[in-house]
Amino acid sequence: MKKLVIAEKPSVGREIAKNLGCFDRSQGYIEGESYVVTWALGHLVELSPPQHYSEKYKRWSLKDLPMLPEKLDETVIEETKDQFDVIASLLKRDDVSSVVIATDAGREGELVARWILKEANWNGKCERLWISSQTEKAIKEGFETLRPSSEYDNLYHAAECRAQADWYVGMNVTRALTCYYDTKLSCGRVQTPTLALMTQREDEIERFLGSFYYSCRANFGLFSASYYPEDNSIRFTDENLAKEMEEWKGKKGRIVSIVNEEKSEDVPLGYDLTELQRDANISYGFSAKDTLETLQRLYEIHKIVTYPRTDSRCITPDIVPTLKDRIKALSNTPFSRQVDEYLKNGFRENNPRFVNEKDVSDHHAIIPTEETVRLENLSENEKKLWSLIALRFLEVLGDNYEYRTTTLKVNVENKIFIARFSTPLKRGYRGVSLSSGMKSPLLTSDDEDSFFLPSLKEGDEVTVESIKVRKSSTTPPERYTDATLLSAMEHAGRFVEDKELKANLTCGLGTVATRADIIEKLVQNRYVERDGKYFVPTAKGREVVRLSPTLLRSPELTGVWEGRLENISKGKESPDLFIKDIKKIATELVADVEKSTLVFSPDFKDGKKCPYCGSMMMRSQDSDGSIHFICQKLSCQYEEREYKVKVSSPIASSKKTFSTTESGKIKVVISKKSAVKVPTVYETKTEVVRESKLQYKRDNKERKDFSSFSFSKDRKDSGNATMADFFKLSKEREEERKNRKKK
Ligand SMILES: [Zn+2]
Repeated sequence: MKKLVIAEKPSVGREIAKNLGCFDRSQGYIEGESYVVTWALGHLVELSPPQHYSEKYKRWSLKDLPMLPEKLDETVIEETKDQFDVIASLLKRDDVSSVVIATDAGREGELVARWILKEANWNGKCERLWISSQTEKAIKEGFETLRPSSEYDNLYHAAECRAQADWYVGMNVTRALTCYYDTKLSCGRVQTPTLALMTQREDEIERFLGSFYYSCRANFGLFSASYYPEDNSIRFTDENLAKEMEEWKGKKGRIVSIVNEEKSEDVPLGYDLTELQRDANISYGFSAKDTLETLQRLYEIHKIVTYPRTDSRCITPDIVPTLKDRIKALSNTPFSRQVDEYLKNGFRENNPRFVNEKDVSDHHAIIPTEETVRLENLSENEKKLWSLIALRFLEVLGDNYEYRTTTLKVNVENKIFIARFSTPLKRGYRGVSLSSGMKSPLLTSDDEDSFFLPSLKEGDEVTVESIKVRKSSTTPPERYTDATLLSAMEHAGRFVEDKELKANLTCGLGTVATRADIIEKLVQNRYVERDGKYFVPTAKGREVVRLSPTLLRSPELTGVWEGRLENISKGKESPDLFIKDIKKIATELVADVEKSTLVFSPDFKDGKKCPYCGSMMMRSQDSDGSIHFICQKLSCQYEEREYKVKVSSPIASSKKTFSTTESGKIKVVISKKSAVKVPTVYETKTEVVRESKLQYKRDNKERKDFSSFSFSKDRKDSGNATMADFFKLSKEREEERKNRKKK
């Protein structure tokens, strides 16, 4: 009898197959003596769409909302049905006696496998492979210690509840908004509050009124100090004082106090995914998605780091005996000096903040595996990301940084100037980045050491040798970047007023595993745009937030849900009760939309008026540079495209000289060299991409159902106007063009 192993995707499946001695390849699986290894392609099964429950849901209509099927069913995803069929037929084989779930060891991975087994009606024995690295050793050990899958039932329930909650809320609110405002507006449990963070910031920026302030810094020869009108601020607004201070060169001052303090800075904790995404964005400008994808390759292909989608920054005690081998694996890298140092003189292996079973839920922090690192096999980006992880790992195993601060106060004309110095006493973990020649993201320019000159003492007289007054203007709050947005999502509780709620809100918006996808989805839907490293909400994005139900906009709701899902995964809450509450909320949200007195009026500054319905059309650029204008009214949907065509001007391209010869003939000399350079002239042409439905209605004098509406043009319908669809089509058009060129 054989065990059927289901991996998350083909690459992982092949790796496991190799380790289990399976070499007989067939379409969709690999077979050996005791195992058959197959794989999913992410989800192969999804929740059924609304029309599955009732014919009437085919048509989007306010009067059919809310849609609250008693139980949600699952459907096999059409695009990947072949692979599902492979697994289903393997499950039916007589020689397959049990299943090993080897999908991603997390909430979503659990759901991938469980839904496949459910759809394929598998009721037999089932075990779970739960590993944190893809190394041979980890896979081998994992198969020796398989757990009964029932131990992960609660995780499965939490995953299913998450999916169902998103369905009840997403489907209902998206349809409610879309029908009510006659424009495609998509909403989601996590997507909307995340977008709201950005649009609120945009509002703050617009409301911001700048003002001026002064700051002043004096040079006393041996040191420089800044004027502090208050203990923690160098800003002041008194213009007269500023003018006066500019003339203070040569003035005498007295040192009124020198205070020394010895301090110790704890070593940092290891990386969880969000923290790593943040640092990679700050250090290398990687987007959250870039980091996750690169990290996935380091984990899966190179096998040199542990499981990426973790929210823990600690390790469990059973990892401690393996630390030495993990350090050794970094031998032939820029960290070799630190590696030698640790192997020779030891390292800190029992720091209770880092080795902390309590703070590890599904997976420990992202750390190097025991697999020897071969830098030559890594791409530039992989190298960069890996080096952040290796650096942090070595830092975590170091000692605290100990230093002395000296605060020196000088009184000049009864104004207090303060200088601060920082002198390292023991470098501790900060030495790791120094010895490897790499800049640690933990250290900012403020951390630079400045040695205090011990010859000074209280009461000493000093002279102002030079003085500078600066006039600056206050700056508006900064737009979000990948790094700051990830922080804001992680600490969504910060934006919550209610104290009690805040205490419960430990989970933030989304999970470590999903944050990158949520950000990408907002970009795809054109609710925000990237401008360099910043996110700028679009006019449509701002409208979605303005028109969404208040409850859905705030982080409270989703934070509370995330907390409840966490409880379900721990078996502390019943899934039924949760879903009951979700249905109630979906009903309230729909009612909220229907009560609204607002209208959809995005500020499409660069748009133009729709010739059919008169509303402003959204402007969007196609990948070939042509500009599309898309009417946002669902009842219209007119779309046109503007593109430029070169206009040739042959007359001006060369210079002709006429002369009459002696025989009386006319001689024409065309001289190319002297051709006058005429700038190329472009003409803008407009082409209708999709006729307005209003036009269609007029022509047919009868109203047609949206869903049965089709276009007989050669272009596919880019209807329903989500930007994701638009970009997909744009990509297809580009492919088409390329193929045509090849031919
Ligand atoms: Zn229109």
